[in-house]
Amino acid sequence: MSIINTAYGQLPPAFFFTRLTETVAAYADTHPDQRLLRLGVGDVKGPLAPAVIEAMRRAVSEQAKAPSFHGYLYEPGMDFFRAAVVAYYAQRSVTLSPEEVFISSGAADDLGAIGNLFSAAARVVVNEPAYPSYVDTNRMAGRRIIHLLGTRENGFLPLPGPDLDGDLVYLCSPNNPTGAAYTREQLQKWVDWANERQAVIIFDAAYESFIQDEDVPHSILELPGAETSAIEICSLSKTAGFTGTRVGYTVVPRALVREGLSLRDMWIKDRTTRTNGVSYILQRAGAAALSPEGMVQNRLAIRRYQENGRILSDVITRASRWFTGGRNAPYLWLPCPEGKSGWDFFQELLERAQIVVTPGEGFGQGGEGYVRLSCFGSREDTEEAALRLTKLL
Ligand code: PLP
Repeated sequence: MSIINTAYGQLPPAFFFTRLTETVAAYADTHPDQRLLRLGVGDVKGPLAPAVIEAMRRAVSEQAKAPSFHGYLYEPGMDFFRAAVVAYYAQRSVTLSPEEVFISSGAADDLGAIGNLFSAAARVVVNEPAYPSYVDTNRMAGRRIIHLLGTRENGFLPLPGPDLDGDLVYLCSPNNPTGAAYTREQLQKWVDWANERQAVIIFDAAYESFIQDEDVPHSILELPGAETSAIEICSLSKTAGFTGTRVGYTVVPRALVREGLSLRDMWIKDRTTRTNGVSYILQRAGAAALSPEGMVQNRLAIRRYQENGRILSDVITRASRWFTGGRNAPYLWLPCPEGKSGWDFFQELLERAQIVVTPGEGFGQGGEGYVRLSCFGSREDTEEAALRLTKLL
């Protein structure tokens, strides 16, 4: 008998990002005169929107005085923030009740915890390549993973076939790392599949605010039937530059019931048991980020990243190279030249053009032979990278 969770021993070691960081650092050390263009990381530049800063200042002042001080809060989130999320969804004609909204410390936390609602026997479909947490958190829980591969043929947007069997499915649209985004019609096929099989979709909407195309839904809850089949996990990390501030939200619809149990009620029980919620100051910050004034300010930064996406897309299109992303997501996903692995092409771009990208191998199955370019670099670096890529491609 084992007293520890031996599933952790079967996880791949966290060497990928260490190797990446060390390789780039070693190159920078040995080539101090060369300007490195970092299009690898998926992190925002900042600063936070003025409306957010102001809300945090006010909240700090409230905490400084006994009459306005807040101690422990209701774990799923304060009314004002849940109302702000409800209003944000109403702009997309999605009607939520505040009781369906749960404030979190970011999408990664809830992606890690949502598995608490499912048994170890649940079979998990992951649309790969993928944000690594979907596979790793389920491996930690000892669940069987069914790897559903994105390919060039399906545009990295696999759909459920008649033989696909699974109990839980992770979908991320717009996608990290591929930048591909399901249209309404495509996503409806997943919703219908889940309802037919009584499966549950975990929908990661972390990049919804980058969507530019009309036929791409921002939320799976825009689709009929999603309220009985999907949990949506979202974040202010990329929408409002909160990667270091840490606020997100999760929507568990009331109508989502499996085996006679309400998943929303289960999630209330889970959250009130395992967490003490998100700090008052950060909830004020989050609500301000989603306010109309905050969103106008956030959109200035989003537009800058979208413009970077356009610059990089133009270069690759001009080179007649196939790719996904760059329009509805801040990532471009590019096949490597014939026979090269993502690591080989990463090394080539580093040495010949001093451009840092992320090898596709970091995103699980289906990632080999591709690299990810991020649109979160500065405008100056992105333009310079475009010039260097024009020569190289
Ligand atoms: N989901 C996806 C697809 C991501 O790319 C990321 C972060 O890069 C996250 C979730 C985590 O977001 P958060 O910063 O809210 O934890």
